[in-house]
Amino acid sequence: MHASSKKQREIASRIDSDVAISKWKDWKWQIAHSIKDIDTFEEVLEITCPAEKRKGLEETISTFPMSITPYYLSLINVDDYENDPIFMQAFPSVNELHVERCDMEDPLAEESDSPVTGITHRYPDRVLFLVSNTCSMYCRHCTRKRKVGDVDYIPERETIQNGLDYIREHPEIRDVLLSGGDPLMLPDEYLDWILTELRAIPHVEVIRIGTRMPVVLPYRITDELVAMLKKHHPLWVNTQFNHPKEITASSTEAIRKLADAGIPLGNQSVLLANVNDCPRIMKRLVQKLVMIRVRPYYLYQCDLSEGLSHFRTSVRKGIEIMENLIGHTSGFAVPTYVIDAPRGGGKIPIMPTYVISWSSNKVILRNYEGVITAYTEPDDYKPIYCDRNCETCALQLKLDSADESKAVGIAALLSDYDSTISLVPQDTERLDRRNGE
Ligand SMILES: *Cc1c(COP(=O)(O)O)cnc(C)c1O
Repeated sequence: MHASSKKQREIASRIDSDVAISKWKDWKWQIAHSIKDIDTFEEVLEITCPAEKRKGLEETISTFPMSITPYYLSLINVDDYENDPIFMQAFPSVNELHVERCDMEDPLAEESDSPVTGITHRYPDRVLFLVSNTCSMYCRHCTRKRKVGDVDYIPERETIQNGLDYIREHPEIRDVLLSGGDPLMLPDEYLDWILTELRAIPHVEVIRIGTRMPVVLPYRITDELVAMLKKHHPLWVNTQFNHPKEITASSTEAIRKLADAGIPLGNQSVLLANVNDCPRIMKRLVQKLVMIRVRPYYLYQCDLSEGLSHFRTSVRKGIEIMENLIGHTSGFAVPTYVIDAPRGGGKIPIMPTYVISWSSNKVILRNYEGVITAYTEPDDYKPIYCDRNCETCALQLKLDSADESKAVGIAALLSDYDSTISLVPQDTERLDRRNGE
């Protein structure tokens, strides 16, 4: 099939006058012809960046390189490109060089929580496994900006082996998230090998792939790729659509292939200033996503990575967006709004307040319309006392006792079987005095 629009044909011929237009849908051609410098960008789109910005832009690219697939570039509206959401996500801004006091190189402390190269083990039962160091498009809002443009390479088999060994040696890991970079930058056979190795580990129950390919290079989702992925169920794919404009005929087709292969699809959007920080845009985005069978999963508050300050919104804006979604549209179209806590605290959900008050037997709630209502709680509810011994419990699930470790956090405070009474910060002067320090 040929490039679908006249614009794409024009762009293709400006990039590569020798090549048959049928290559447009060849993902390797797209990667080989990604736009990496401003001259080419201007030539291909027939626009001229303001001369006074030029030097700053070159400087930005030398710190945070640029790479835009011809496909993604073709979605830019040249008539108002500076306000275009595709342009803003793909083209550098001099603001990236501006470092705020709160900015950090690795705000999520992914490296401190990394037992072996490529693995971040933060949560009890799942790990993040970085299996690729590169992407087809360098998102300007990348949270791993510190790594972008480090030598573009596929990690050595040995590095991957070490990651696999770690997962093998930790039976508590039941969910592995492949990320990167973009795991779909790997050749099919290489990814097939990783997935096969993971599948051979009995305690790995689910595998997830985080990829932006359906959005920035949908032609990567080939029939061969999908046939390979299908062998490794249960496999989930999470992608990142940030704006309704990204839902095109090509991205819809890529998603259709994945969904038809029985792969459940989720979307992780990032809330970005001047791109999608609008309740109406977000509502349209999530509604369009469920139409293409993608379930909105997370809406991220923009991280505190260096170079992202111009993309950050207030948290108030995120709550306003959630207020405009919950109840106003299908429940399964509503993502969870999260802040990924600095220093590796993990994702913390944020939402408007719906519980207004409480008495001994009533909870007072408000709904999305502003209706305030009382829910009467039962007078005689007797919760089952839990000593974690499922054998003697009346509830009908006989769990092996071994598969759960110690209770964590507030769950420990709430539980019957854990004797923890308080969670106490360890670095207070009061505790120092107690310990005679
Ligand atoms: C986001 C993330 C996960 C997965 O979290 P879920 O809430 O299960 O999607 C796991 N590990 C790390 C380090 C993460 O950042």
